[in-house]
Amino acid sequence: MRAWAVVENGAPLQEIELPTPEPRGTEVLVEVTHCGVCHSDLHIWEGYYDLGGGQKMSLKDRGVILPLALGHEIVGRVAKLGPDATGVKVGDLRIVYPWVGCGVCDKCQAEEDNMCLTGRSLGVYQNGGYGTHVVAPHPRHLVDPGTLDPAIAATYACSGITVYSAIRKVMPLPPEEPIVVVGAGGLGLSAIAVLKAMGHARIVVVDVSDEKREAAMQAGASHTVDASHDGVTARIIETCGGQVAAVIDLVNGTATARFAFAALRKGGKLVQVGLFGGELTLQLPLMAIRALTVQGSYVGSPVELRELVTLAQGGKLAPIPVTQVPQHEANAALMRLRDGKVTGRMVLVAA
Ligand SMILES: [Zn+2]
Ligand SMILES: [Zn+2]
Repeated sequence: MRAWAVVENGAPLQEIELPTPEPRGTEVLVEVTHCGVCHSDLHIWEGYYDLGGGQKMSLKDRGVILPLALGHEIVGRVAKLGPDATGVKVGDLRIVYPWVGCGVCDKCQAEEDNMCLTGRSLGVYQNGGYGTHVVAPHPRHLVDPGTLDPAIAATYACSGITVYSAIRKVMPLPPEEPIVVVGAGGLGLSAIAVLKAMGHARIVVVDVSDEKREAAMQAGASHTVDASHDGVTARIIETCGGQVAAVIDLVNGTATARFAFAALRKGGKLVQVGLFGGELTLQLPLMAIRALTVQGSYVGSPVELRELVTLAQGGKLAPIPVTQVPQHEANAALMRLRDGKVTGRMVLVAA
C-alpha cells in the first residue's frame, strides 16, 4: 500500500510504500476512496497540542509513532475480510468509524469506543485515510452510507458525530426551548444543520464575526448574538427570553466558557467541545444550589455515527460544502488548511 505520511513532524508529507496489512480475526481491510482533511490532522502533523500559557502536549509522549498516515474521516470499499469478520462483503462501500479502542474493555463492548482508556484511533495511533488502505478492527466499525454522497458521508466520522454527540448530551428539549451554540465556524454550521434535521426550532448562535453570524442565519439559526464586545451573557439571556437550559460551546476558550456558563438557568447544562483552550473558575456553591452541569464531549460513538447516518438518509440534513482534492495532493491540501484558505471541508479522493 501507499501512504502520504508524516515522516517528520512539521515537514512535508512523504509518499511512502508500506506492506499492505493482512486482516486478522474480525479485522476488515478497506481500500480508501475518500478522506476528509480535519483541523486536528494539523495538530498531529505538528506533533503537539497548544495548552496555552506556553504549555504544549506532545503527541509523541501520548504514543503517536511516525511514520503515520493521517486521516480519520474515511470512506472506502471493503477489500478483504479477516477469518472471523462477517456482515460485509468485498466491494461494499462503508464509512469507517475511526475512534476505535482496545476492543475488549466495558466501554468498547458497550460501543462507547471513543471513551476507551487505550484509544487506537485511525489516523492518530495507527495509519488512517491518507493512505490507500486502512484496517477496521471489527465490522461494527463500518457504517453503510447508502445513497449518501461518500465525500459528505466521510465528514460524519469526525465533524458530524462531534456535533451530534454534543447535541445528544443536551437532548431531549422541546423544539421551542432555545439551544445556544457558541461558534459559527464549520462545526457551528454542522450543529445548526443537525439541530434543524432533528426538528429543533430555536437555535441561538453566538460568534464574534458579522460574516459568520450571517452564515449561521443562512444555515437556519433562528437568532444570533454578537460576542465581539462586553455584555455577551446579558445579550444571550435577552435573545433567549431568559436564562438558558443548554449551551454547546464549540470554541471552549476562557471568554466563551465564562459567558456561556453565566447564561445557564437552574438545572442548565454547558457542553464543552472546542479545543481553543484556557480555564474556567466555578463558584462551587452555585453548582450545587443551581444544579448545574458542565460536561466535556469528545467525538462520538459508533452508535451515534449510525444514528447520524440514518438522520442524513432521511434527507433533512443539509450537506456542508465540500471541495474534492486528489489523494496524492494530501500535503498541498493540509498546507491550504494550515494557511486558512478553506471554506467547508476538503476531502481527499483516491485516483
Ligand atoms: Zn477530525
Ligand atoms: Zn476499550
